[in-house]
Amino acid sequence: MTGPRSWLPVPPLPVGVAVELVNEWAVTPRQASARPWGGHPAPDSPYRMRLHETWPGGSRLADEEISSAAEEIHAVFAAEPGEARDAVVDALVDRVGLVPRLDSRGAPPRLGWRAAADAPPLLAAMLATVLDALTDPATRSAGLCAAERCADVYLDTSRRGHRVYCSTRCQTRERVRAHRQRRS
Ligand SMILES: [Zn+2]
Repeated sequence: MTGPRSWLPVPPLPVGVAVELVNEWAVTPRQASARPWGGHPAPDSPYRMRLHETWPGGSRLADEEISSAAEEIHAVFAAEPGEARDAVVDALVDRVGLVPRLDSRGAPPRLGWRAAADAPPLLAAMLATVLDALTDPATRSAGLCAAERCADVYLDTSRRGHRVYCSTRCQTRERVRAHRQRRS
């Protein structure tokens, strides 16, 4: 017989950091990229620094733990919006035991999250962040970069909501490619 499940509050993680963790540590973007893999970001990389500054315990996390959480969250972005994505999120929510909690430390009180004490803490935090972002009216869409050989994720919070690339670098690369194709 197992005892009752216990919960721990999930410290908030900035959504920009969550997206960055997915794009720098997940396995799928690495495999899609045409560039040779140079290893996980170094301890003094800007990605590691931002994780360290924004999330308690971030500096103690092993690359494998970040990578496995990042890959699980990548699947949320990769899923078609609608029933398919909802099912991916539901399964993750069940696994980490994510439940809402009232956080009244500030005014007005806000909706926070708790997760099962035995769940990977970073996965719980990334999932909570992505849930908040996907249900934010300012988020127009979420998905995978449309550029060739790129599987990085993006969240579109632009007013027009036409974003399809992860970065201006990919957008420029695709524009140049399309231009060359038209000329040949
Ligand atoms: Zn891209």
